[in-house]
Amino acid sequence: MAKKRSKKQLKAKGILALLLAVVLVGLSVGFAVSEKRKPDKVQPEPSTEAPTEAPTEIPTEAQTEAPVPEPTENTPPVSLPQATKGNPVTVSPDGEHWELTLLNLQYRLPEDYKPTLKAAVEGSSAQLDARVAPYYAEMYAAAKADGCTLTPYSGYRTYARQQENFERKVSYYVSQGLSEPEATAKTQTRIMPAGASEHNMGFAMDIVSASADFVSTKEFSWLLEHAREYGFILRYPENKTEITGVMYEPWHWRYVGKEAAAAMHQSGQCLEEYLGIA
Ligand SMILES: [Zn+2]
Repeated sequence: MAKKRSKKQLKAKGILALLLAVVLVGLSVGFAVSEKRKPDKVQPEPSTEAPTEAPTEIPTEAQTEAPVPEPTENTPPVSLPQATKGNPVTVSPDGEHWELTLLNLQYRLPEDYKPTLKAAVEGSSAQLDARVAPYYAEMYAAAKADGCTLTPYSGYRTYARQQENFERKVSYYVSQGLSEPEATAKTQTRIMPAGASEHNMGFAMDIVSASADFVSTKEFSWLLEHAREYGFILRYPENKTEITGVMYEPWHWRYVGKEAAAAMHQSGQCLEEYLGIA
């Protein structure tokens, strides 16, 4: 009996053990499933949200943000009135961004314009707009410290003086056999008519001398490297004659302010391009 019992007991124990095992396995599976589900339920939410939101948000941000800086970089800091050939517009160098005043055949000063003047360098008879002169003086001193003398040759010119210079040149070309319109057209690539010259505004300086040899001087090299640090630009570069309408003038340096000078240096633009009218 004892054996039988024990056999029965063993069987019962075996069944119990099996049941326990089944329960335990079932429980552990249940745990495993519920443990798996728990993180499954928690994690998928952000992980499914992230991929659906991220791709839609990132490109739209990139699409809206990327083109914005480009137009702002290319957007001229001043808006100029429309001018056409033969119908020049009158401009005045004042207000915000006075330093960016454009003068050429299409944009001209009023005939009676007279800037407040100041000697470009102490003791020099060459004058500039009083707002510009301190920058020239600063540039002059810096160049001098580097062993370069930026002799101010011709700064501000009166309207009458500009007219004289212009007419003298036209007469010279006429004497060389050109017709009056031909002589005027040729003169305009070398001397601006009165009111169209940056010298009438007092924003430009012809440095050393009106000589093409200026290109080979150390002063010219210095200017190419440093003028922008003082807000000056080479106004009529060799590769922009079709846009400026003026022949290469390595001696003619024009004040536009440090910000514009740096931007134009970086972009390789001339003033007309920078102002968005070329
Ligand atoms: Zn000049």
